[in-house]
Amino acid sequence: MPKILFVDHTGAIGGAELVLLEMATACRDDCTVLLFDDGPFHDRLRERGVRVEIVPGQRLHRTRREDRLPRIGSIYDALRLAARIVPIVRRHECVYAHSQKGFVVGALAGVLARRPVVWDLNDLMIPEHFSAFNINIGVFLANHVARRVIANSKASAIALARHGAVAAKIHVLYNGIDDVPFDLIGDVDIAAARHEFGLEGATVVGVFGRLAEWKGQHVALEALRLLPGVHLLIVGDALFGEDRYAASLREQARRSGVAGRVHFAGFRRDIPLLMRAVDIVAHTSIAPEPFGRVIVEGMLARRPVIATRGGGVDEIVEPGETGILVTPGDAAELAEAIGGLAAGPDIRRRLAEAGRDAAVRRFSQAAMLHGMRAHIDGVLAA
Ligand code: UDP
Repeated sequence: MPKILFVDHTGAIGGAELVLLEMATACRDDCTVLLFDDGPFHDRLRERGVRVEIVPGQRLHRTRREDRLPRIGSIYDALRLAARIVPIVRRHECVYAHSQKGFVVGALAGVLARRPVVWDLNDLMIPEHFSAFNINIGVFLANHVARRVIANSKASAIALARHGAVAAKIHVLYNGIDDVPFDLIGDVDIAAARHEFGLEGATVVGVFGRLAEWKGQHVALEALRLLPGVHLLIVGDALFGEDRYAASLREQARRSGVAGRVHFAGFRRDIPLLMRAVDIVAHTSIAPEPFGRVIVEGMLARRPVIATRGGGVDEIVEPGETGILVTPGDAAELAEAIGGLAAGPDIRRRLAEAGRDAAVRRFSQAAMLHGMRAHIDGVLAA
């Protein structure tokens, strides 16, 4: 019997899915990934030779943070979906759930199938990101069903505990990112990437991540108005229905007269290359970030990183040593930080080198995979 059934609700590729991609690849002889939606994530798992099953959960996808009250349909759908996946769960020794929705359905199915359940918490359970109902149901199932909760930062762990989750069950395991792809990129590749966007000779700031209002790409655009001559490369796309926000960014760039210096790359798979191709990596979220993989990736790319304070970011960046922290939503402060780095090659180099060392030391992929395996073995041995 395979050991692990990884459960995730989405077929889109966010940070949590990239974590799961690495975990499932490392365990591919001994796991299945169960998704409630098809999409590019399925393709990426298949490319890695991971076994995937898809059981669509249409109504589950319609619940949103704005919903004050749970929709009867979504509760019914979660229960129905849980019942449907019981036979799949029974074919595995444990359930390892990513995402709040994946956890709710996986936990219910785990109870029905009598299998231990682990929640890999890649979210900050706070009102900025989740409805009160979804936070409460997560806490309830964490306390009464999950054997362990593996949080991707202290911030994520504390937020869950603050809402009543039993702190002793929660373990912090930082996201780990493979540093090798960042080292394989040479000057020729960098020149080609800059050429692709017409960035030769320019100072370029890169903002990486899905296009969503809370990720704050509009703040970077606002800052650009204060930075004559600087170019902005925006990498990422709307993943979870934020198409209107994505369109509004293009409109904002046009209206504010910076469109000629803004480059929308869309969703890309060559993040290490594009990070090496920019001069500064900026993270601009206006709500607290559960972790912030793009910040670690910027550090691994040996680029100075500017990030907004709050959540897991405070655990990644040591201000003034391995990066610069700014106030969320403050375009003037962001512009000042970018301007300072653009004019200071020494500080750029110092932050980049120290950032790279810290990222390799503290956020290694090997450590994350080792930690995940140890938690699963611990749960199965208990
Ligand atoms: N990413 C990507 N292609 C893109 C934009 C982003 O592969 O076009 C990746 C990025 O490199 C990072 C992840 O998506 O690994 C985003 O993770 P993060 O923790 O920053 O944010 P989340 O999506 O989890 O909120």
